[in-house]
Amino acid sequence: MQLDILGYQCKKCQTISYPYRTLCRKCGHDAFDPVPLPKKGKLLTFTQLFTLPGDFEVNDITLGIVELENGVRMTAQLKIDAPKMGMAVQGKVEVVRQAGYDKCRGMVFYPR
Ligand SMILES: [Zn+2]
Repeated sequence: MQLDILGYQCKKCQTISYPYRTLCRKCGHDAFDPVPLPKKGKLLTFTQLFTLPGDFEVNDITLGIVELENGVRMTAQLKIDAPKMGMAVQGKVEVVRQAGYDKCRGMVFYPR
C-alpha cells in the first residue's frame, strides 16, 4: 500500500499548506481540500540529533528540511549516509517512532 502525507489546499487561492493551519497563509481563507504531497524534493539543510526521547529505538537521527516539487517545505527524517545540501531526495512514508502500540508514521527521505 502506498501511503501519502496530506497537504491542505486553500479552496480560494489554491495555496498548499503543510502542516495544517487554521487560516491560509496567503489569503486568510479557512476552507481547505486535503491533497497528497509529492514525494520528490530537494534537501535544503539538515542536522543530526543525538539526545532523543526514550520512545525512539535508535541512538541518533538525521533531520532535514526538504523542499518538495510543489514548493512546500517539510521537516522530516533522512536515511542518507552523507547528506548534501541541494541533493535530490525521494520520500517514503514509514513508521518513524513507536510509543507502546501506537505507531507514528512520517515521511523519511532517501537519496534519489
Ligand atoms: Zn488561500
